[in-house]
Amino acid sequence: MSAHLNPFAMAQAQLDEAARYLHLDPATHEFLRWPKKEVQVTFSVRMDDGSVRVFRGFRVQYNDARGPAKGGIRFHPEETIDTVRALAAWMTWKTAVMNLPLGGGKGGVIVDPRELSPYELERLSRAYVRAVGAEMFGLRKDVPAPDVYTNAQIMAWMMDEYATIVGHTEFGMITGKPIPLGGSLGRNDATARGGMYVLREAARTLGLELQGATTAIQGYGNAGHFAHSLGQKLLGLKVVAVSDSKGAIYNPEGLDPQAVYRHKRETGSVVDFPGAENITNAELLTLPVDVLIPAALEGVLTEDNADQVKAKIILELANGPTTPEADRIFHERGIYVLPDFLANAGGVTVSYFEMVQNAYNYYWDAETVYERLDRKMTEAYRAVHAAAEEHGVHNRLAAYIVAVARVVEAMKLRGWV
Ligand code: NAD
Repeated sequence: MSAHLNPFAMAQAQLDEAARYLHLDPATHEFLRWPKKEVQVTFSVRMDDGSVRVFRGFRVQYNDARGPAKGGIRFHPEETIDTVRALAAWMTWKTAVMNLPLGGGKGGVIVDPRELSPYELERLSRAYVRAVGAEMFGLRKDVPAPDVYTNAQIMAWMMDEYATIVGHTEFGMITGKPIPLGGSLGRNDATARGGMYVLREAARTLGLELQGATTAIQGYGNAGHFAHSLGQKLLGLKVVAVSDSKGAIYNPEGLDPQAVYRHKRETGSVVDFPGAENITNAELLTLPVDVLIPAALEGVLTEDNADQVKAKIILELANGPTTPEADRIFHERGIYVLPDFLANAGGVTVSYFEMVQNAYNYYWDAETVYERLDRKMTEAYRAVHAAAEEHGVHNRLAAYIVAVARVVEAMKLRGWV
């Protein structure tokens, strides 16, 4: 992997730019360039056929100056410690830009979960929690959540395994749980929903009409497929292209979210959807659309394709989809980027609501969740927009300025720097 595509090098480069801008002193800057604490674990899982497989996993607590580390767990065959570090750094800026009383963390296991049976997946999930252990995880220390290829059922197994380690059930030690086990209503589609609120505010700022605005979405998992349905329902977007790891589909007349979702469920992919043309993931990114929503993996918008992107707004539901070089090109070309740690913060915000509800043992209705999420997303967008206007910088740098300043303030108050 070339240096500029290493996600952690990318996260550090983004911080460095903000640090120069904020005139951070060298010690504070150096502290923020590295994870505060991380573990790498090796553990074994018994497969259904009786054999034993060995896995590698990670958990990174990047910074907890503002509160317990918070961030998802990924199961991915190409997981690396640097990907996890980068994601943990972005979680730190994300909770800060949202003004949540939390820090940033992330975890991962190198595995392709699609190759495992449900029983093997359960044993893997439990073994990961045992390997990382109660020294790292805990309500007041580090609270995980779902991410790529992990889901509510996996969170339930992890919560249960943690309960056997500490000797009591503690719902708030993990979020994104199923509703009967302390999950929050509205968590399922929170990332996409939060993104739509931010997109709505951005369109207001730009004076752009979203009703009928053509949209392409890369990735059709939790973030991507809800972006399709909620984009249409809440904002009237006309989604013309979507994709998954097998390829992309395009229909300039628009794609029906229910029909595409059904097709994916039945065939395993969005590819070969009746009435749409199959295209590549690379082609999807440069389609003539108003809104582009990367909602899959990091590092997909680079200096190699940024010149060909035609969208007016990029809503980054994925973490780290844009390299710093591509960011500069988009800024020069006047493409309005809604950066990942603002645009996709709906998930962590409802995760925070879930922790609050677990602590109170009192649960909100969906309308209350949506209303409070809308307020948080709108406030965060406005803070970022105000910083962008004040300093004359693009949104990512503005979001860093807001977030890093908040983390630094907490570190200074605690006497760390
Ligand atoms: P998911 O596992 O539900 O879905 C991932 C999707 O990406 C799948 O449709 C998969 O087919 C597709 N994909 C994988 N490799 C691809 C490739 N090379 N090209 C195109 N598509 C590919 O994951 P998710 O939860 O939707 O997460 C997607 C992104 O959103 C990640 O960057 C994640 O960190 C970010 N995110 C998710 C949440 C959340 O609450 N789920 C919150 C914040 C950020």
